Amino acid sequence: MVDRRIALTACLAMALGLTVAHSQSGAPAQPDYPIKPVNFTAVKLTDDFWAPRIEVNRTTSIPSAFEQCELTGRVKLFERAAAVLRGDSNVDKRPPGYPFDETDVYKVIEGAAYSLSVTADPKLEAYVDGLIEKIAAAQEPDGYLYTTRTIDPKNPHRWAGAERWVLERDDSHELYNLGHLFEAAVAHHLATGKRTLLNVAVKAADLLVRTFGPGKRTTWPGHQITEMALVKLYRVTGNVSYLDLAKFLLDERGPGPLPEGERANPRGLNYNQAQLKVIEQSEPVGHAVRAVYMYSGMADVAAVTGDQAIRAAGKRIWDYLVTSKLYITGGIGASGSGEAFGQPYELPNMTAYNETCASVGMDFWNHRLFLLEGDGKYIDVMERTLFNGLLSGVSLDGKTFFYPNPLESNGQHARQEWFGVACCPGNITRFMPSVPGYLYATRGDSVYVNLFAKGTAQIELPGGQIAIAQDTRYPWDGAVKLTVTPQRARRFAINLRIPGWARNQPVPSDLYHFADEIDAAPPSLRVNGTSVAMTIDKGYVTIDRAWSAGDVIALDLPMPVRRIGSNDKVVANANRVALQRGPIVYAAEWVDNPNGKVRNIVLPDGNSLSTEYRKDLLNGVQVITGRATGLAFDAKGAITRRDQPFMAIPYATWANRGRGQMAVWLARVDAAARPTPFPTVVTTANIVASPLPNGRGKNARNIIDGEEPASSADSSAYFDWWPVQGSKTEWVELTFAAPSTVSTSEVYWFDDTGRGGVRVPASWRLLYKSGDRWLPVETTSTFDTARNAWNVVTFKPVTTPALRIEVVMQDKFSAGLQEWKVR
Ligand SMILES: [Zn+2]
Repeated sequence: MVDRRIALTACLAMALGLTVAHSQSGAPAQPDYPIKPVNFTAVKLTDDFWAPRIEVNRTTSIPSAFEQCELTGRVKLFERAAAVLRGDSNVDKRPPGYPFDETDVYKVIEGAAYSLSVTADPKLEAYVDGLIEKIAAAQEPDGYLYTTRTIDPKNPHRWAGAERWVLERDDSHELYNLGHLFEAAVAHHLATGKRTLLNVAVKAADLLVRTFGPGKRTTWPGHQITEMALVKLYRVTGNVSYLDLAKFLLDERGPGPLPEGERANPRGLNYNQAQLKVIEQSEPVGHAVRAVYMYSGMADVAAVTGDQAIRAAGKRIWDYLVTSKLYITGGIGASGSGEAFGQPYELPNMTAYNETCASVGMDFWNHRLFLLEGDGKYIDVMERTLFNGLLSGVSLDGKTFFYPNPLESNGQHARQEWFGVACCPGNITRFMPSVPGYLYATRGDSVYVNLFAKGTAQIELPGGQIAIAQDTRYPWDGAVKLTVTPQRARRFAINLRIPGWARNQPVPSDLYHFADEIDAAPPSLRVNGTSVAMTIDKGYVTIDRAWSAGDVIALDLPMPVRRIGSNDKVVANANRVALQRGPIVYAAEWVDNPNGKVRNIVLPDGNSLSTEYRKDLLNGVQVITGRATGLAFDAKGAITRRDQPFMAIPYATWANRGRGQMAVWLARVDAAARPTPFPTVVTTANIVASPLPNGRGKNARNIIDGEEPASSADSSAYFDWWPVQGSKTEWVELTFAAPSTVSTSEVYWFDDTGRGGVRVPASWRLLYKSGDRWLPVETTSTFDTARNAWNVVTFKPVTTPALRIEVVMQDKFSAGLQEWKVR
């Protein structure tokens, strides 16, 4: 196994988009990225941060994701398609939940393959072999592989279209599915040396080459990934037609008439980045995952073909993104509607979408831009996403996953084991094993050290192999000791990344800045005890000298706790501050702060903050502590201020201890905080809403959190029945701590006109519980449905254990409540 691993290292790196294709003589056969990463199989991490996470991914996340693929019928899709191809007439023909369900199997195979490249596991390898047999059997004779059409060509999933490819630009996902197949096939081939899945991929890719291209059929993928996957397949097979097709699919994208019978996505051209030709684009728009997958493919194609127009477009889009559409956690995609980027500077916190897959795609893309441009600013963004917005996607035990990764919560958010659309767990499983591959890279006879983690690396340079051992407690401590051991003493350069956060630049734009006036010690560097000048170029200090075995580089990156402020244009963060230490962004969570509240906290600028390592907490984390002010309303509605302890934990580790409040952006002044309401008969009650389909969890407690809504559209803390819609009757029920005498109800409706499908109800009524019966209250009030106002109903006093609101939705719309007060 060991020998094969070493032999596979070079080609694994190449096919993963991570290095240059070489001909037999060692000269580049085709141009490719000028910088080559050192593949993860050559980097062994022994740290306390990543190594345990990668092991949990191997032992928990991958097996449980495979189990979910079995339980949810995803594996069965291949078996059913194969049965139809065999002529079996007794096949379950029901369409899958989504036409892309089969990609989850491909993604977890890819993750398993990466894991197998590092850790032998005969049982896992045999299981994957069995899956591949099923996949191969589901492929049609000409290479087509899309189970829903094969299972029932006359009645495939309604997104599939009546014939092959006709709804590709809409949402058939035929090319998307094959893209994930190619990615899995390349990974599996390089991990195991087997061609079983690669043969399936090549057969499918050859069908695409026969079908699409100049003078043939035209299309572009409604959901991107095929582009970068085809480049990987080209690298492994040397078949240039795959590369040509990748470029064709990018070149064809854009507005323009569609062939008869085809349909664009009804969400509009922005949705899948077809608003302009790819080379004319500057602004990241639409579905964030599709976008970053496309931008990754653009970088690949630019690297391999040398196309300067595609390269320039990618750099423009990146500049736009980091200037106005990047969350401080490195997440992207502000809006749940269309899983999309918002407008510039539209970065709401509680409703931030920040899909886990989009963070995975951000790291694919930023890494590629570094390989293309050699600039550390791309690694700065990659590191921010990696340690924060990506890692938050999976729980510490590897069993549950976030789809959206918000920056604020009122307790409505929790990770889940699996999803109807299960893209995120699969993406985590395939990303985690490859993390060590992001640490080092080479360019000619020089090395880049990009990320810091304890462990060792074997690095091939043209002048001979070198070993680098890192000793560090990063990300908890910025002291990094690198021991360099070249095979023979000789001269070469080591480029050491000095992160932006250590140079007073949290992001490479003016979107965020350090808002405190801490006189942080500058980074320092010594080689064998002698200081080296910190001459930084594109984020790197270059140490070009004669190295011999045992030379030691000591890099010190001081890590004071820093306060971060936002550009004034980010309205959501006005008068708020975020905390960062080293690469880690912090969050205040309910369990660590008084009364289980954090949205009522004010952290004045002058309050000093300390930090300590807590071995017992969240598998070992550095926490930030200090004093803050807690705001609350008293019985008369006046605000009280209380000095209280404050604690923040790394954002990525929140929601591992149950549901409750969380905030990344903390109030600096009273006006930005949400004072805790005075306990009333309502805030101490229990509230339950009529259930949503598929057990979707929404937090009905938002209705009685005592917070005054800013408007009916206020997205900070509400409850709605979406996606239930259309003249349905639903209810919410308030059960008092003890039977109470009440005579007034005030309701503030939720309504997201212009943004979503929730409206004030068509009608409603108020009931009280009497024995086992629900009776209408006796009133002369009208049951109003005004927006942006309290709708008051006074009624004959009742002493009752519970009240219920019954709403009838408007035709074609859902309904929801901001707040409900009862006296
Ligand atoms: Zn996802």
